[in-house]
Amino acid sequence: MLTYPAILILVVLTDLHGVRTADWAYWGENGPDKWPGLCQTGKKQSPINIISESAIKKDLGDLKFIRYDYAFLGKVINNGHTIQVQLSNTLPIQLESQYLSSKYNLEQFHFHWGSEHTIDKYRYPLEMHLVHYDEQYGNVTAASQHENGVAVVATFFELSDKDNQAMDPILKAAKQVSAWVGSSSTSLRDKVIPHLLLPKDRTTYYTYEGSLTTPKCQESVTWFVMSETVAISEAQLKIFHNVSSPDGILSFNYRPIQAIGDREVFHHLSGYSSSRSNFSVHIYLALLCTFLIRLS
Ligand SMILES: [Zn+2]
Repeated sequence: MLTYPAILILVVLTDLHGVRTADWAYWGENGPDKWPGLCQTGKKQSPINIISESAIKKDLGDLKFIRYDYAFLGKVINNGHTIQVQLSNTLPIQLESQYLSSKYNLEQFHFHWGSEHTIDKYRYPLEMHLVHYDEQYGNVTAASQHENGVAVVATFFELSDKDNQAMDPILKAAKQVSAWVGSSSTSLRDKVIPHLLLPKDRTTYYTYEGSLTTPKCQESVTWFVMSETVAISEAQLKIFHNVSSPDGILSFNYRPIQAIGDREVFHHLSGYSSSRSNFSVHIYLALLCTFLIRLS
């Protein structure tokens, strides 16, 4: 029989559980179709399916990753929705682009298993989000209240036979926090070099105006979705699939695809100019005409 204190503990635990499940989730009664506010009413929501053929090719300038090549310690957190990494840096780790008006500081990065964005309806096994805020706002929460306050770099992972060694420090720590005991964190034992988590070829990316992909879904995000992918082994991916949340094993944590509406998606290609493409169209037409004339 339960003693009075045991019953009291049970009641408290049940109540705490009640509070947790009142939070948002990726499925069930608090799933994406119940997320509040802009998540339902917004017109610039993320993620989207990117149709590679429809993306407008343009040279928007290369992204500059400042201090991404330094090695950092930090902490890895299981917050019940994702595995998140916060690096310990005294100087800001920054993103710069001629497309953005100021410098953006890296606050944290985290993972979605399956990818949130899809390319031509293809969903990658994993997507990493490097979340930056416009340095004038101080942090992501404040920046998300402002148009273009946040810049997220998204990188897709594809399955490979080999482990991705740059991911090892993160995955070792992720294993330690994978059981759900409430939001929990652990320190990185080995240093992480953010550069090594990005694709080797960083010269092409898609960009569009969207939102945070978790409540409150603020529409303040400039997205940079890298075209090239990074490798991850099946064994490494499995560590993410074993992460627990208040609702049990977090078997996936991606938001469904949102309507693109009247937004444009640009595809940055280094050195691309539309006049050059017109030139090649002209050459093609000239060759075609020669061919047709010969036929006639
Ligand atoms: Zn994310």
